[in-house]
Amino acid sequence: MTRTTAARNAEHRQDKAPLSEKVFQRAFEHSNEGMLVTDSGQLIVAVNDALCRLSGYSAGELIGQNPRILSSGRATPEFYAALWQTLNTEDYWEGEIWNKQKDGANYLRFVRISVVRKVDGSIGNYVANFSEIEANHEVADRLAYLAYHDPLTNLPNRLAFESQLAQSLRSCERDGKQLALMLIDLDNFKNINDTLGHHVGDLLLQSVAQRLRECVRGSDLVARIGGDEFVVVLPEIEAPLAAARVASKIQSNLADSYRIADHVLYATPSIGISLYPIDGSDPGTLLRNADTAMYHAKNAGRNNHQFYTARMNEASGERLAMENELRQAIAAISPERSEFALHFQPQIETVSGRVLGVEALLRWNNPKFGPVSPLRFIAIAEETGLIQPLGDWVIWETCRLVRVMKKQGIRGIRVAINISAQQLRHENLLLLVRGALACYDLEPQDIEFEVTESTAMDNPEMTLSILDQLAAMGIVLAIDDFGTGYSSLAYLKHLPIKRLKLDRSFVTDIETDANDAAICTATIALGHSLGLELVAEGVETEAQRDFLAGLGCDILQGYLYSRPMPFDDTVAYLKAHQAARASN
Ligand code: C2E
Ligand code: MG
Ligand code: MG
Repeated sequence: MTRTTAARNAEHRQDKAPLSEKVFQRAFEHSNEGMLVTDSGQLIVAVNDALCRLSGYSAGELIGQNPRILSSGRATPEFYAALWQTLNTEDYWEGEIWNKQKDGANYLRFVRISVVRKVDGSIGNYVANFSEIEANHEVADRLAYLAYHDPLTNLPNRLAFESQLAQSLRSCERDGKQLALMLIDLDNFKNINDTLGHHVGDLLLQSVAQRLRECVRGSDLVARIGGDEFVVVLPEIEAPLAAARVASKIQSNLADSYRIADHVLYATPSIGISLYPIDGSDPGTLLRNADTAMYHAKNAGRNNHQFYTARMNEASGERLAMENELRQAIAAISPERSEFALHFQPQIETVSGRVLGVEALLRWNNPKFGPVSPLRFIAIAEETGLIQPLGDWVIWETCRLVRVMKKQGIRGIRVAINISAQQLRHENLLLLVRGALACYDLEPQDIEFEVTESTAMDNPEMTLSILDQLAAMGIVLAIDDFGTGYSSLAYLKHLPIKRLKLDRSFVTDIETDANDAAICTATIALGHSLGLELVAEGVETEAQRDFLAGLGCDILQGYLYSRPMPFDDTVAYLKAHQAARASN
């Protein structure tokens, strides 16, 4: 007898004793599992409601019958022989039995039969209990997996894609975000499949799936929705350009050759892109429009991507082309030749008219795009990380030119360099600055860093530590574009800054707009109360100059004095200025 059986019988005899028969009666009647009791002669003496529901027989029809009445007849005589054998030796049997309902329908149940013996050891009753077969979790999981995945590539299938897209769309709608859907069709797949066979085709699809996954983030969805059709969903993109960038990456990754079963294969993609909300707000419309765009991509010569909305193609095309040009221009910088140059704009002490310094402003002149505004290309450089090498070059080149200026006899001029947020996130900025100062034999006082207000506020801890170290080196720090962000006075006090540069937008209308005038007045007073110097940017008229002078603004910069000039003109300007002051 197994341990369980012994234990079970012990329970029957001892533990039940304190409970009244009524309790057992109720437990029996109300059990959700079908139960029956027979006498020692195997005739049914009791059934509960659950068994009546399960079998379709009434209690009256069952009582007095042999439980065979429930049997489906599927089991063999050997099966029953083994059952009785076990029951007789172990007082217990369990296993699956197919039963038949009154109306003929078969049902499978897990049946447990116990022998209840009398005090003298003879058989009193048989108790049988019929429970649901417990789901096999592994099988169930596998089935669920297969329902939502493509077995060849293990990517989500069409069903999963549709439900996840619908879900992403709901959260984009809630959060006011955009979403991009890309439909990707392989250009050459049918050919490969037809000539090299399905096995090679399958291996190729698996490699494509893998490369696609590598092109996107974990949170993006990649699914296979047809033979050689894949989709990528980019949820919550900032701008359509993000989709164009991912599409370019997919193009270049998929276009690389595949080595499969001794073949070198090529399978470039044609990609159609639709965007939520402009191209549709439900999965069906977005997919249809991505499909249309995909056919445009095929017609445009394959191995390219197209947006559903035509003007998106132009905008992103130009932007990507500019990004490419910028990348190449940065890679091609050399001492002899560069598409980049620094221009300089003087900063004038308000009371004396003396030139205290100049601000270095980056210029880019590209053969394809001509001169590009820094507002435009710096934004691209920041978005793509190109600002790192470009910003490094600006620091390096500024220091070189300061050396040249000094050699030409120009003294006491500080050159301000604009530093972007990403540069302030890496400690190597400090190394670079030290290196450049040492290389050109400059003092920290020869340069100044301008950091925009939003940069100084963003990621304060790391930024603060780097700013502190720069200040400790003796480099003057200024907050640029002040007034456009949300700096708190309390926070400003913690920054090791010397200057605030009042944003040009407040200066422009200072005489006509009472709000702007009030902001300038307050900012200057506030800055002074913190011991900071105030610089006004974009001073174009004498009236603006007089107004700012009246408020006690320390330094002025703007077209009124000079536009940003190329280096040679700057040197000439500064020399003339020094000569004029010397003769006064
Ligand atoms: P910013 O640092 O605030 O530079 C002042 C901008 O105002 C410059 O524009 C300058 O040409 C312009 N400006 C100066 N005076 C006047 C004026 O009287 N009237 C008008 N209308 N504009 C005036 P620019 O050169 O186009 O530069 C734009 C921005 O690009 C700069 O703003 C700066 O944030 C960024 N930038 C320029 N060079 C660099 C650089 O080397 N590195 C980084 N990270 N950013 C740079
Ligand atoms: Mg600046
Ligand atoms: Mg500014």
